[in-house]
Amino acid sequence: MQSYLNGFRPGDPRVSRAEGEVEGELPDEVDVLIVGTGPAGLVLAAQLAAFPGIRTRIVERREGALQMGQADGIACRSVEMFDAFGFSEKLLREAYWVNETVFWRPDPADRTHIVRSGRIQDVEDGLSEFPHLILNQARVQDFLLETMRDAPTRLEPDYGLEMIGLDVGAEGSHPVTVTLREVATDAERTVSARYVVGCDGARSIVRESIGRVLEGDAMNQAWGVMDVLAVTDYPDIRFKSVIQSADEGNMIIIPREGGYLVRLYIEMDELDPGERVAGRAITADDVIAAARRILHPHTLDVQEIVWWSVYEIGQRLTDKFDDVPFDEVDVRTPRVFVAGDACHTHSPKAGQGMNVSMQDAFNLGWKLVAVLEGRSARSLLHTYSAERQSVAQRLIDFDREWATMMSAKPSDAADGTGPGVDPAALQNHFQQQGRYTAGVATRYAPALLTGAGTWQHRADGFAIGERFHSVPVLRLADAKPMHLGHVAQADGRWRLYAFADAEDVRSSDSKLRGLCTFLAESPDSPVARFTPEDADVDAVFDVRAVLQTPHTGIAPTDLPELLAPRKGRYGLVDYEKAFTADPRQDSPFAARGVEATGGALVVVRPDQYVAHVLPLDAHAELAAFFAGFMLDR
Ligand SMILES: Cc1cc2nc3c(=O)[nH]c(=O)nc-3n(C[C@H](O)[C@H](O)[C@H](O)COP(=O)(O)OP(=O)(O)OC[C@H]3O[C@@H](n4cnc5c(N)ncnc54)[C@H](O)[C@@H]3O)c2cc1C
Repeated sequence: MQSYLNGFRPGDPRVSRAEGEVEGELPDEVDVLIVGTGPAGLVLAAQLAAFPGIRTRIVERREGALQMGQADGIACRSVEMFDAFGFSEKLLREAYWVNETVFWRPDPADRTHIVRSGRIQDVEDGLSEFPHLILNQARVQDFLLETMRDAPTRLEPDYGLEMIGLDVGAEGSHPVTVTLREVATDAERTVSARYVVGCDGARSIVRESIGRVLEGDAMNQAWGVMDVLAVTDYPDIRFKSVIQSADEGNMIIIPREGGYLVRLYIEMDELDPGERVAGRAITADDVIAAARRILHPHTLDVQEIVWWSVYEIGQRLTDKFDDVPFDEVDVRTPRVFVAGDACHTHSPKAGQGMNVSMQDAFNLGWKLVAVLEGRSARSLLHTYSAERQSVAQRLIDFDREWATMMSAKPSDAADGTGPGVDPAALQNHFQQQGRYTAGVATRYAPALLTGAGTWQHRADGFAIGERFHSVPVLRLADAKPMHLGHVAQADGRWRLYAFADAEDVRSSDSKLRGLCTFLAESPDSPVARFTPEDADVDAVFDVRAVLQTPHTGIAPTDLPELLAPRKGRYGLVDYEKAFTADPRQDSPFAARGVEATGGALVVVRPDQYVAHVLPLDAHAELAAFFAGFMLDR
């Protein structure tokens, strides 16, 4: 991490200097009011907290932070995002790593017993530099709360405040009026906001207030979930296990952080159409008894139940994630948004709820910043619902398929024919959906923020519309082996990764040098047009280059100034803009299919998605892309 640009400060450099209006009483007017401190609300708050010029507050009806329970699966993609928030290492140290998944099925010799039928690597090699992790949602939320606290605004949630009403006015700078109830006293008050984001879960009041509903079906199947400390002779208790019993239902075992704790997802009763699970009065003992029957002949001796719950499976989705009706998109812009479970719910076993919810918030956060800082028109905010609603629709489809398979009986026949789900087919399905469950299958379609694929062949491995797939490199100035994608922080900036052409960057024929000259000097350049006058040159566009020359063959002082820019109050040189191949690894060009002769420019959004791939000398196309949604300074 970089620090001390504007002068040395003793102490932990991760704690930013307090700036702007720091935490205090909830004011009457805010720029952004977030409702709910689940994963979606906290990712959004953690991102906005970095911007002292934006007055953000987050309210929560609970009296304090979440302590236990709920989701626990952290997809590779979420760890990539957490790296941008600066706490991936802490997470990696504390979490359980899902390395392999095992499959158990009825023993053909005695179908009352289960037997291991398969074992697969959980995440295919090379899909992400990060593993699939398991950690209590409450701990994930703690890390996000810490990020908020260490940010310049020192943002803390306002606990014990329930949102009970919302009204969007037609006029004024802060047109959304929110009514809040103090849980302890019942006292009511209002807050006016420019924007309100409902991250208030499946029963969202924000969603209801903008007239949107969660539509979808229940699958009439009750499941129990339980975090336990237990003693068992089941040999795979420290592997993620997908277990199909002949007649007692199915179960998923998720080993948890710390080496002893384990989560069990247990299939319970089939419900009647329209029946709610609460009506069944299922007890913790019922859930344990079902788990024991499924695990037979293995034993399960539960010593402590840390948390448990029962739920019915259902997939529900709302048709739009903001307050603007489809037929008014051309005449007004959104003021109220919903994110996370407030707009999509699904079964927990595919481990997507928390992950997709956080990605919603990450998608929205930088767009709100761009609009509130005056860098983009408000119409940019339409892209949030457009992009995320279709992602959620695909999630719902995926989840329905997986949940149906997981609630079906295994087929009796050894060859997988006959009624029920063939255990081999279940394993195959799991494996094929690996990209999906890792969170890296999202692909935004060409639109305002996603360029056409005309030049995709210049860098095949950086698929336009997908998340930037990081690659190992060596930092030029100090030969540090690192991941290129890890330079990205959740700071609302765009990254322009310029993979050099074959010409030496010192030569006037170098296309990389030409790009740097265009960006630094041309009045048409996005850097010149959209960076505030008093800001550092990389305040909006962070240009990073990957050279073909080895680090021993070129010095930072040989680079165009944009790749060693002078910044901050002392005009210090930023030495962390240029990289080369790490001789111990595959070349980043070969690893990501970047054309070595002409190079390529990979344009990456603040939420780490590839927006465009262009030739280094496509200056006009680059300028036109950003002019499509950015405002001149
Ligand atoms: C009881 C429960 C158990 C779950 N179990 C699992 C599981 O086992 N596995 C799994 O993968 N997923 C599980 N989930 C789902 C997973 O937790 C969610 O997908 C994920 O938390 C979604 O994040 P979110 O931020 O959208 O909403 P949530 O995490 O639901 O957060 C919403 C927040 O908003 C607050 N809130 C709600 N209404 C208001 C209001 N009017 N005013 C102020 N604050 C409000 C709530 O108190 C809550 O803190 C569970 C969810 C719940 C609620």
